[in-house]
Amino acid sequence: MSKQAANKPYKLVSRSSHLESTVVRVGKHFVGDGSPTVIAGPCSVESREQILDIAEELKLCGAHMLRGGAFKPRTSPYSFQGLGIEGLEYLAEARQATGLPVVSEVMDTDSLPAALDYIDVIQVGARNMQNYPLLRAVGKTTKPVLLKRGLSATIEEWLMAAEYILNEGNSNVILCERGIRTFETATRNTLDLNAVPVVKDLTHLPILIDPSHGVGIARYVPAMSMASLAAGADGLLLEVHPTPETALSDGEQSLTPLQFHQLMKRVEHYVAFQASFDMETSLYG
Ligand code: PEP
Ligand code: MN
Repeated sequence: MSKQAANKPYKLVSRSSHLESTVVRVGKHFVGDGSPTVIAGPCSVESREQILDIAEELKLCGAHMLRGGAFKPRTSPYSFQGLGIEGLEYLAEARQATGLPVVSEVMDTDSLPAALDYIDVIQVGARNMQNYPLLRAVGKTTKPVLLKRGLSATIEEWLMAAEYILNEGNSNVILCERGIRTFETATRNTLDLNAVPVVKDLTHLPILIDPSHGVGIARYVPAMSMASLAAGADGLLLEVHPTPETALSDGEQSLTPLQFHQLMKRVEHYVAFQASFDMETSLYG
């Protein structure tokens, strides 16, 4: 643990309270065990057919979990708000068909109890990172929580949000960097990859990167996915849509299944390269 990690306001999430990195178990999968976790799926669950079809494709490409929003936090009240419980039912059906655990956002404490029946990982979205009643409520469950960084949150504020969850007894927290607001307008957000080594130093919790929201433009997503892994992230959260041009939300940043397949090949090569590099350094290092 570095000097930077000592004497922080967060106690339970701090490396100083827990030197070993936390590995979060989701079904048969382990997040933070040294090999990258890939969670993929559409921004929103749009129909039964859409989610069942894409789930099969993602599974074939090697994804470890399926994402899809049923309750959507939209900037405009006139935009598609998600299918709600019906969307969760389709996600559960997709899990049944593929064996992929499902990750979905819960926006408020009212919908949490019902959502728990369907999902494997509770996503707390960027806009809700400081919704303290929600953080407390998810902290009282035993389900893994994917805690996204707020749009304008500092790393310390983000870790304090995680502290709320651990403080209620749930230590299955996975952090997710998804880009922050800066003066830059060429991309939707600015993906803060500084957060990876900093978070690894300050806390024992695993960290995933969401380059889809971080960049907001599909053609830049593969480069930033590989950069995330090179920085030491524990995995990726990626938006993939069968037909991005007709998506009801976030089509501009969604990969096609073919683009996702190509990216997964690069990830596999990277993992193999890392393993041979580690072997070499342990032999000659
Ligand atoms: C999402 O994952 O689709 C989403 C709404 O993310 P964020 O909360 O990071 O904006
Ligand atoms: Mn989205």
